[in-house]
Amino acid sequence: MTANDVMKAKLNSTINGSTLLNDIRETEGRRENKIMLTAGPSNADPAVCDVGQLPLTGHLSADFLKMMDDVKQGLQYAFQTTYEWTLAVSGTGHAAMECCLFNLVEAGETVLVLNNGVWGTRVAALLNRINVNVQEIKKPYGDNFSYDEIEAAMKSVKPVLVFACHSESSGGAVQPVDRLGELCRNQSKEQGYDCLCLVDTVASLGGVPIHAEEWGIDAIYSGAQKCLSCPPGASPLSIGPRAVKKIQNRKTPCVSFYFDMVQLANYWGCDGQPRRYHHTGAIVSVYQLREGLRIVAKKGLDEMWKTHLNCSKLLWSELAKNGFEMYVKEEEKRLITVNVVCVPDGVDAGAVLKRLREVDDIELSGGLGALAGKVWRIGLMGFNCTEENVHKVVKALTEACKVCRK
Ligand SMILES: *Cc1c(COP(=O)(O)O)cnc(C)c1O
Repeated sequence: MTANDVMKAKLNSTINGSTLLNDIRETEGRRENKIMLTAGPSNADPAVCDVGQLPLTGHLSADFLKMMDDVKQGLQYAFQTTYEWTLAVSGTGHAAMECCLFNLVEAGETVLVLNNGVWGTRVAALLNRINVNVQEIKKPYGDNFSYDEIEAAMKSVKPVLVFACHSESSGGAVQPVDRLGELCRNQSKEQGYDCLCLVDTVASLGGVPIHAEEWGIDAIYSGAQKCLSCPPGASPLSIGPRAVKKIQNRKTPCVSFYFDMVQLANYWGCDGQPRRYHHTGAIVSVYQLREGLRIVAKKGLDEMWKTHLNCSKLLWSELAKNGFEMYVKEEEKRLITVNVVCVPDGVDAGAVLKRLREVDDIELSGGLGALAGKVWRIGLMGFNCTEENVHKVVKALTEACKVCRK
């Protein structure tokens, strides 16, 4: 046997001989009620799953280009912007994160990162790779920053960009950003900290009110698999005129060809020029995101925001009734899409997650980073955000805590 034959035989005994996908198909079919109340992904809406089965179209075909236009419009609605440069990059939330950061800053420039969890830490690490001068202000997980704290930091470090995570899904805090744009537009000469702002809304877009343009947010990004009820694959972003100007006046080209916004804006029909091949769009993910956005438009953002708020409030009160404590004590600081719950004393956090998976067909997330083993995270996002799911998860969690003792 040649080496090639060995490889082929091996693959035939793994992929070809495997029933893994069929198992998933059957398991998911049988467990109709399996719910993914994790920090992401959430269950995709069945209508979104359906369009995932459709045949491919060409990535530059008239139909596909029209679908990209629809996605762009849907995203402008979701972010509440009229920004021309609104599109979905191929990849998960991190792709949109890298795309924004790589385009908005150049080596040697200073960025202020508000770090109150995993995402600020991630952004700082990412910027260090492209030799940006990273200045962080830090808060513990579950806490957020006041505008005074942000402004003081801006005055002292004079950044070209401020990064804030609206939906800190690791600590469960929401970061108010409604006045961030105003702070970044301080023109006073002696203070001199006129800069751009970038906001991560991966776990909040569609679930928590965001009015990006009205709030003066220069660049904002998200993901598909959380409140938009899609599989991961195409990730939204919207970039306003001040940020576009900065990108168009860069001294050095964007470090990533794949994420070069000037080229992506052309492919997405945002620059008024004939649309050219840059890379093959994530065709099926675009179908699915379009379907997810159709559902958002049909329900309406106001209604979605209301549903997310009401379900989380119900979750908090049901959890309290059953003796659970939320990690973020002040309600107004809580992110309503990813709820962080303390693991009660004497309970085996990992065993609870396992039991929920095996007995109740419910998936939750454990703690991330500094909170590993100390909390569970319950996502109530998009398609999953229902009162029925709230009651199911509280009941299952309460039962599991009685059984899974350390
Ligand atoms: C989930 C999440 C991300 C990362 O998205 P991926 O799709 O996993 O790449 C980034 N930021 C926040 C706030 C998130 O919740």
